[in-house]
Amino acid sequence: MSDCIFCKIIAGEIPAEKLYEDDEIIAFQDIAPQAPVHFLVIPKKHIAAPADVSEEDEKLIGKMIRIGAQVAAENGTGDAFRVIFNNGAKAGQAVFHIHLHILGGKDKPWRM
Ligand code: 5GP
Ligand code: ZN
Repeated sequence: MSDCIFCKIIAGEIPAEKLYEDDEIIAFQDIAPQAPVHFLVIPKKHIAAPADVSEEDEKLIGKMIRIGAQVAAENGTGDAFRVIFNNGAKAGQAVFHIHLHILGGKDKPWRM
């Protein structure tokens, strides 16, 4: 999507501090971290929001969680991290390219 900020990060048009990349997924540092460890995991496929996930995307979304946990461990969270998807502006979704927040590095990061 040409006007999507995360598609621009995927395309290398906007810089990001990448922690992981393969042919389907990237993980990168959140620009405004809410915890000592706070990064985002996104699919290279543009899916707007969790509510737009189709059956064919199920494996990809599971992989985002698996890679998120792997990158969390590599970045020192131990086994304590939060895994958050926001859906819709009223729930705080500001970027409409699906993303998994991983937060850790302190007790109860970003507790709701
Ligand atoms: P949301 O509120 O949509 O669930 O989360 C969007 C997240 O993306 C926010 O935590 C915000 O700090 C992060 N973000 C927004 N724009 C950029 C950007 O250009 N680069 C990076 N690295 N993170 C961004
Ligand atoms: Zn996008």
